[in-house]
Amino acid sequence: MAKKRLVSGMRTTGSLHLGHLEGTLKNWVSLQDTYDCFFFAAVWHAFTDRIKIDDLPTIIRNIIVDWLSVGIDPEKSVIFRQSSMHEHAELSTILSNCTPLGWLERCPTFKDAVRDDDARSGVSLGKLMYPVLMTADVAVYNAEVVPVGKDQLPHLELSREIIRRFNGSYGDILKEPEALLSQVPLLLGIDKRKMSKSYNNGIDLRETPEGLKAKVQQMITDPQRVRRNDPGDPEVCTVYAYHKIYTPDRLEEIAQGCRTASLGCRDCKLILFERLNTMLEPIRARRAEIETRKGYVEEVLDSGEKRAHAAAAEVLQQVRQVMGFLL
Ligand code: ATP
Ligand code: MG
Repeated sequence: MAKKRLVSGMRTTGSLHLGHLEGTLKNWVSLQDTYDCFFFAAVWHAFTDRIKIDDLPTIIRNIIVDWLSVGIDPEKSVIFRQSSMHEHAELSTILSNCTPLGWLERCPTFKDAVRDDDARSGVSLGKLMYPVLMTADVAVYNAEVVPVGKDQLPHLELSREIIRRFNGSYGDILKEPEALLSQVPLLLGIDKRKMSKSYNNGIDLRETPEGLKAKVQQMITDPQRVRRNDPGDPEVCTVYAYHKIYTPDRLEEIAQGCRTASLGCRDCKLILFERLNTMLEPIRARRAEIETRKGYVEEVLDSGEKRAHAAAAEVLQQVRQVMGFLL
């Protein structure tokens, strides 16, 4: 049986952190065997944020290298840049005419951005159009499934409505993608808020062992545990939240050690550092190996983009046909 097609992207707004690894990339890696996967660097989508153009080529390259180093396999998956695919832009233009303005204005991210008149003058049309381009990103490959977290379900529903509108006008051409709900852990940053680039609280995938150690040492623990001999509450500690993910085999021992003060925060952090470092070590090794292969990343993108163009051409040909563009 043919595999179902899955499409997903990641914005190129900066370097990848452990939140991306746990929340997205590990899932992508495991989906590769079950689905016909298309993974793209969402370069245009990055422009709804302020980004430095000088940094962009490095950001894009590093993201692709990081994907490869965690196990996204170009033999299995199609890897490409949105910005190399004019087809997304063509379909987005077409779909914008099937999308009522009200649907876009009601999107929470847009509503947040235009809270007051001052804010409104600084918001781009791109921010409003974001869901339309997102719809084109998947519809242009006839994606059947899109991996989403629970919080992104409304976005996918909007995409499905836009596609239904198009199909209602022109015939059943575009596929309505289904949500592939993934249970992904929300990873905390070292300051106990959600790990996020904009909070500057992340642990990067490219962290050196020294950098990693420094980040782990900065992690917020139980604030009540001031002295070494004070007992702590693991449930309020960021380090313990990490142990739940990375040290499941010693969890009880660590919780007990914290509660009885037989394990100090320093040693508890050292255990975590060792675990994280052991996990990152093979990723670092693969990254180093990829970097020695001159022209390899370019080759991966070249071949991925050829395959993406071919898939998109099939869908767009049908779209152009039903819309009367072809003589
Ligand atoms: P920004 O601060 O600009 O929002 P970010 O660091 O939150 O950046 P995003 O580009 O918003 O990164 O995240 C892309 C995807 O990575 C998210 O949709 C989510 O699936 C995953 N992700 C990001 N941060 C985390 C996290 N802390 N825990 C789990 N998954 C995460
Ligand atoms: Mg975010």
